[in-house]
Amino acid sequence: MAEDAQYDALISWLEACYPNEPEYLQAVKEIVKDVLPVYQVHDDFKRYDVLSRLCVPERVIHFNVTWFNDEDEVEIHQGWRVQHSGLIGPYKGGLRFHPTVNASILKFLAFEQTFKNALTGLPIGGAKGGSNFNPKGRSDNEIMRFCQAFMLELHRHIGANTDVPAGDINVGGREIGYLYGAYRRLENRFEGAITGKELEFGGSHVRTEATGYGLIFFLQCVLATHEDTMAGKRVVISGAGNVALHAAQKAIQLQGQVLTLSNSRGCYVYQDGITEQMIHWAMQEDANHENILEAMQQEFGGEWHPDAVPWNTPCDIALPCATQNELDAEHAKTLLKNGCKYVLEGANMPCTEAAQTVFIDARLPYVPGKASNAGGVALSSLEMSQNANFRRTAFSTLEQDLKDIMESIHEQCVEEGQDDGWINYSRGANIAAFRRLASAMVSQGL
Ligand code: GLU
Repeated sequence: MAEDAQYDALISWLEACYPNEPEYLQAVKEIVKDVLPVYQVHDDFKRYDVLSRLCVPERVIHFNVTWFNDEDEVEIHQGWRVQHSGLIGPYKGGLRFHPTVNASILKFLAFEQTFKNALTGLPIGGAKGGSNFNPKGRSDNEIMRFCQAFMLELHRHIGANTDVPAGDINVGGREIGYLYGAYRRLENRFEGAITGKELEFGGSHVRTEATGYGLIFFLQCVLATHEDTMAGKRVVISGAGNVALHAAQKAIQLQGQVLTLSNSRGCYVYQDGITEQMIHWAMQEDANHENILEAMQQEFGGEWHPDAVPWNTPCDIALPCATQNELDAEHAKTLLKNGCKYVLEGANMPCTEAAQTVFIDARLPYVPGKASNAGGVALSSLEMSQNANFRRTAFSTLEQDLKDIMESIHEQCVEEGQDDGWINYSRGANIAAFRRLASAMVSQGL
């Protein structure tokens, strides 16, 4: 079969070009499988070889980050920026500081980000970056010096119209402030070259809430399509960071019953339904506790289960909002057995490939992060446009914009993901994004 031969040839070529990059190849394989039938029937797409060209990053920048720690010792870490595609706008995507960061992981994330950003309908290309630096246990001064050293290299590759980084795992408001401060001094100009900034220096309303709120707006669309509503639904959420807490807040406001939050140490379960007041408390108190969830249990009651995950708690809706590959096939089967009806990813690729297969085989509405967590980067794009115009837009306007964008992503998934009465959200998202990127590639010539 022509499709199989084409698939095998493309994957063999990529394996030869990029040996030892399993995460990147895995992400490519997943998307290529879905989009190949669309590619095959478009002569222009074939003539311009858009599929091979979309799979490889335009540029991978690799540098050393050298800095003094508090013991006056020199430390050297590796830094990367993967500029995957600038086809439809400036390269755009977060920075991750984590010991597991390597070229393969960042290439997979930049590739996925390209498709995610295309789904938003906004003019943003795809990128990802970061370092194998572990910020856990470092002093505030060490974090600042590391961010400054990182930017000393990165600044020459980014800019409001070229490449606009933001936060990701372990890169939050504090790190963005230090990174932006270094960029502004090195470049001697104020411009929207980084998003996720504080409101005082060019940040946007709703950026902090956007990923979590956007996830719940998408969930509302999924529920409406299945003639269902949020009221009284039991929701289990993993994570206790920005995405998880804002998703929980919005779900509670819409009458959902949020039963869990979690972190790497265990799971907090509150069977009566976590309240908005508890979420507000966690947001305020986070910095004052080593384990905010244990502190929450002491403050409000409920159960703290060390080393546990949320997926054994019977629920209607599961929202994995912690990290990649946190939900495996066994967890997926337990969720199904206990009656879970919807799974939407708040993190990037939290469900393993095998877990995704369990959901897809059961024809469950399962939504990949590139569709359901796109609210964060969408708001980043709105921050860029506010910066370009030296304006600030009101919270209510931006929240409505976010809602509209999530609805539009949902519509695209439904349109492209129809499968015999069931909606394959993964395939729908992959094909819708591919069409936009492939058409842009053809229009722009070789
Ligand atoms: N790191 C976020 C994501 O995975 C946000 C990226 C951005 O705002 O550029 O989409």
